[in-house]
Amino acid sequence: MPPTVAVVGGGISGLAACFHLLRAPRPPKPAPAPWQGFGHLVPSSEDPALLGIVYDSVAFPEHDGTPVTPGKPPLRLTVMLGGAWFRQSFGDPALVAPELLLRRARAAVSDHLGLAGTPTHAIVRVQQDCIPQYTLGHWERLERIQRFLKEQQLPLSLIGASYSGVSVNDCIASAKAAVGRILGSPP
Ligand SMILES: Cc1cc2nc3c(=O)[nH]c(=O)nc-3n(C[C@H](O)[C@H](O)[C@H](O)COP(=O)(O)OP(=O)(O)OC[C@H]3O[C@@H](n4cnc5c(N)ncnc54)[C@H](O)[C@@H]3O)c2cc1C
Repeated sequence: MPPTVAVVGGGISGLAACFHLLRAPRPPKPAPAPWQGFGHLVPSSEDPALLGIVYDSVAFPEHDGTPVTPGKPPLRLTVMLGGAWFRQSFGDPALVAPELLLRRARAAVSDHLGLAGTPTHAIVRVQQDCIPQYTLGHWERLERIQRFLKEQQLPLSLIGASYSGVSVNDCIASAKAAVGRILGSPP
């Protein structure tokens, strides 16, 4: 039987595991923006209201959809505002006017990226409590679980942000390591 991965409730880490098993080639990316990269973060000392901007079209051009203007690649951005400084910058998250957030986001895009045009589409969402955190005793709990899996010789790999690492990078690294263990070869 070929090596098999069962993805349970798999998000990014499950996808990463499947990707590394299949060794799928990446489709070529067009360059929709003059700046390349995932995005940039802004230190709170510089602007507490602005957390950063993600260049979605650069990271995931395949999600861009059909260009509004034929021949002109669409450009999608995510402006992240607020965080721990939301109340001091915008007031009560339940009451804030979406127009205020959109204005602030457009100002950030103009200041930081030099894009002053009006977006064809804009979606404003207030995501409350959206960054989960490990609770006290996480690592001890994890060590107990890993010991149990080993003792019981269960063919189960725990990968993803719930267990170790908080970013997509960590998810990919732990997925690669898990697949390496399944295949008996280092990643
Ligand atoms: C707002 C925000 C911004 C972020 N920005 C970045 C960033 O810029 N760069 C970066 O590297 N990382 C970022 N992260 C972290 C990154 O998104 C996570 O590390 C990553 O998504 C974790 O992947 P995962 O596969 O472990 O879990 P997830 O992608 O969260 O997937 C878990 C899946 O399991 C499902 N699920 C949960 N419980 C059950 C159940 N009982 N039954 C069935 N399914 C279930 C969920 O619906 C979900 O689809 C960000 C996270 C947040 C919240």
